[in-house]
Amino acid sequence: MSKINKIAVFTSGGDAPGMNACIRAVVRTGIHFGCEMVGIKQGYQGMIDENFIPMNRHSVSNIMQLGGTILKTARCLEFRTEEGMEKAYQNLKKQGIQALVAIGGDGTFTGAERFSNKYDIPVVCVPGTIDNDLYGSDFTLGFDTATNTVIEAIDKIRDTAESHDRLFFIEVMGRDAGCIALRAGIAGGAEAIMLPEKDTAIEDLISTLEHGAANLKSSSIVIVAEGDKNGGAYNVAKRVKEKFDYYDTKVTILGHLQRGGSPSSFDRILGSRMGFAAVKALLAGQTRKMVGLHGNNIALTDLREALSGHEFKLEDDLMEMSSILA
Ligand code: ATP
Repeated sequence: MSKINKIAVFTSGGDAPGMNACIRAVVRTGIHFGCEMVGIKQGYQGMIDENFIPMNRHSVSNIMQLGGTILKTARCLEFRTEEGMEKAYQNLKKQGIQALVAIGGDGTFTGAERFSNKYDIPVVCVPGTIDNDLYGSDFTLGFDTATNTVIEAIDKIRDTAESHDRLFFIEVMGRDAGCIALRAGIAGGAEAIMLPEKDTAIEDLISTLEHGAANLKSSSIVIVAEGDKNGGAYNVAKRVKEKFDYYDTKVTILGHLQRGGSPSSFDRILGSRMGFAAVKALLAGQTRKMVGLHGNNIALTDLREALSGHEFKLEDDLMEMSSILA
């Protein structure tokens, strides 16, 4: 295999706090090992539109603390087509780019796996998504910051809930995974947590809330994961209100504020470790791998395995304690 001396990095799919720390690590690690580094703006779209920028140590100064991604991100339909991929490949070839670091979620990985297989261009992926729903890493980049943001919101809502004796339903992100909901719910002292991974009947939720009321709880917070099968916080609140009408109920959808903000120390370190490991893996001849965290160690997983639909499971102890501690 010929030596890699020009590497490009890009972010794709949804943005996540910590992506900038990862970009910084990729660029500085590559430069350290003698590579020329390039940033691709707006993910796969930038590959097609030739949106390439040369990166040096200075290009990534003072970005560690920033949320979002300095390289921007995009969802690109054209890259899903054979023609789009061919255009992207020709543009990379013109630039002399020999390897890629892709930071994103499972869609980004699927594109990277197809592209790398078709054109034999080495690629290593970093799991950057707040949802924490990828097989092969205990944590994804951005999950910790997003969970902290949700906890801060719960604490604030608790103040007003307590003052008015209200029942709040707070809907949090996570797509089909309840990782953010479960952890934020436990850390925020929620009375109940509705998860996609566990069906909760409205009748059971009501009896939990009635039990709380009988124990003189003056306010209650229910965390509803966006993927919960009851159809979202408004729906849950409406159905609870129908049977529990003496409670003053309110709904808060936290929405996109969960994606923003300065990354936590955990995400800054994780992004740095993953970016560093991704470049080292490429230079060691690895390809079609995902960098992940296992225990407290960095480990590589085949992209195909990471994507093969191994079910992501929530921690048993967290699941068990969530109702006991509430
Ligand atoms: P998040 O988890 O935050 O949504 P993601 O990486 O899963 O991030 P997607 O929008 O699913 O986000 O995927 C990002 C991009 O990856 C898509 O816009 C598309 O350009 C590319 N992509 C996804 N699936 C494929 C595919 N089957 N073939 C080629 N490219 C793909």
